[in-house]
Amino acid sequence: MSGDKLAHPGGWATHPDNPAWYRRLLAAASEVAIIATDTQGVITVFNRGAEKMLGYPAAELVGRQTPAAFHLAEEVAARAKEMSVALGRPVTGFRTFTTRPDLAGSEKREWTFVRKDGRRVTVSLVVTPVCDDDGATCGYLGMAVDVTDRVRATRELKTLARTDPLTGLANRRVFAEAAEAEFERCKRFDTTAALLMIDIDHFKAVNDARGHEAGDKALVALANLLTATVRTTDVPARYGGEEFVVLLTGTTLAGAADLAERIRERTARITAPSPSGAFGLTISIGATVFTPGDKDWTEALRRADQALYQAKSTGRNKVTAAA
Ligand code: GH3
Ligand code: MG
Ligand code: MG
Repeated sequence: MSGDKLAHPGGWATHPDNPAWYRRLLAAASEVAIIATDTQGVITVFNRGAEKMLGYPAAELVGRQTPAAFHLAEEVAARAKEMSVALGRPVTGFRTFTTRPDLAGSEKREWTFVRKDGRRVTVSLVVTPVCDDDGATCGYLGMAVDVTDRVRATRELKTLARTDPLTGLANRRVFAEAAEAEFERCKRFDTTAALLMIDIDHFKAVNDARGHEAGDKALVALANLLTATVRTTDVPARYGGEEFVVLLTGTTLAGAADLAERIRERTARITAPSPSGAFGLTISIGATVFTPGDKDWTEALRRADQALYQAKSTGRNKVTAAA
């Protein structure tokens, strides 16, 4: 005993051979959830950090089966399917968490945990096999930290970088990426795609007469109309102030002109609210398709812009198509 005290100045209670020492260590790890299981996934250890993260007292979860206790069934099923495909053999249930650690020593992944109160947290979970003195796996250790805030912030940043904050449509950069990819697809597979360039008529006058806020509402109304009118595979985007573009996949010039006409006609029926009463809106549209002669997609965009200019100069509230 006295020898122990010399070797471990903290006293016998901190001796590594004392089980109480490990219990205290687990309890002190309050910012990390430490969850151990037997080889079949029955929970054997559920530390204070796990209680805090999941809102269950340890007594309620020790003896229960993971992943059913606090994982999202559909998330586990999706991952199980992914692993089954990758490994060429069925992976199900608790093996979804242990197969990689068994093969590679450990696995770190993001998962959703469902708290007792139903709230969801995103965690980074590391799973490692626990071995006995002979090196045989006698259970598994899971250590999870809450990354909800980081994941949410990253997602928000991504959304901000990809969308126009006023209308929620794709921004110019995202549109350029989509158009470029579609242009390459058309070339390779000999398919067609079209571009619409849309500009609100006399929008400066709308702003001057109705106020900038009413102008903003009109932009949102037009964006919503575009989203509702095009197919889910098409990409509507805000290209600039009161300019919108739409990428129409698998569409001919005639198809694009038809859709443009439908958009024009529906827009003319929009009424946007303003302090001085509801007001109407008209747009002009230039339509074109990618052609084999185009060097890149921006050449088609220039053509759509020229068609739009023609629609403007020949009366507005109209569609002009150019091959
Ligand atoms: P045209 O028929 O020739 O297109 O005339 P226009 O007045 O629409 O064209 P112009 O390019 O002269 O004016 C565009 C106007 O769009 C000017 C600007 O006040 C307005 N605008 C651009 N971005 C926004 C925005 O985010 N919100 C609001 N409310 N107005 C905007
Ligand atoms: Mg304009
Ligand atoms: Mg305009």
